[in-house]
Amino acid sequence: MKQQSVETEEDWGDKYGINPPKWLNEHPAIVRRGVVVDQLLRHFHVYQTAWFVDPGIIVKIPRPDTHEISFYRELQKDPESRNYIMPCEIVDDEKHPLMIFPIVSVIYAQQHAFRWPWSRVLKYYDDMLQTVTFLHHRRIAHMDIAMDNFLFSDKDEVLFGQQMHADRPYIIDFERSRQLPLGPGLQPPIDLPPSIIPKPGGIIRRDPYSWDMYCLGWSFYHVYEVNLYRAKSLAPRLVTWYFEWVRGKADCPCPKICSCRPDAHRARYVLFGVRFLVHLLELTDGIFCYTARLFRA
Ligand SMILES: [Zn+2]
Repeated sequence: MKQQSVETEEDWGDKYGINPPKWLNEHPAIVRRGVVVDQLLRHFHVYQTAWFVDPGIIVKIPRPDTHEISFYRELQKDPESRNYIMPCEIVDDEKHPLMIFPIVSVIYAQQHAFRWPWSRVLKYYDDMLQTVTFLHHRRIAHMDIAMDNFLFSDKDEVLFGQQMHADRPYIIDFERSRQLPLGPGLQPPIDLPPSIIPKPGGIIRRDPYSWDMYCLGWSFYHVYEVNLYRAKSLAPRLVTWYFEWVRGKADCPCPKICSCRPDAHRARYVLFGVRFLVHLLELTDGIFCYTARLFRA
């Protein structure tokens, strides 16, 4: 009678990509760093060192059907990218190419941030928008803009030879990005890849730059929600109006170039005015509260 094999916890972890592949911690690029990568971030593809390892790293095994490594390599040639893109060490290896990143924070893990005044939240919007402007200016549509794909350092520090500024978002994940033949306002619709932000009505053929702006509008909304919860102060209507305007209509009826939402340049231009007004509002509020305290018994 054939004996049935018992699946151990380790077998199960290997089968579902919870454990990193055996070769990963034997790879010269990891051995050289003297660390062990054993924590799962994304099944089969992204792992990191344990929380107590300092400095910790994240290792991405790029999917063979994507061009993420070539995207990073091209972007890294541009000195301006250091203001917007997460630092990354590309390990060229014919069999097992790797992308190694430093460990930084995701927005909602930051305890000190997101009890910000609304003017500071708008500054964060501006940082995100600058990143999208940078990409669109180079005819690159990210295609998967989401709050989770912006990471930030909680202090000014140099990581992997790149200066990181505290609380400034740096974008990751170019797995689905495309460099397009035409720029914003000229590029006809294309088939969009899967994304964190769901596609309204399941329609996948859209203007890719407008799709980035739609996802950015949703990311602004998610940042707003985190701050609303933590800061426990209502946002001025201007803030909610702004991200609704950037997000625009969900069901895009435009046959070719989408005009349902602003492009990144226009969104930044309007944000400048919104930031000024909200800052003024907070200043007036501050002066009023201070004066009231002087006369209080
Ligand atoms: Zn449209």
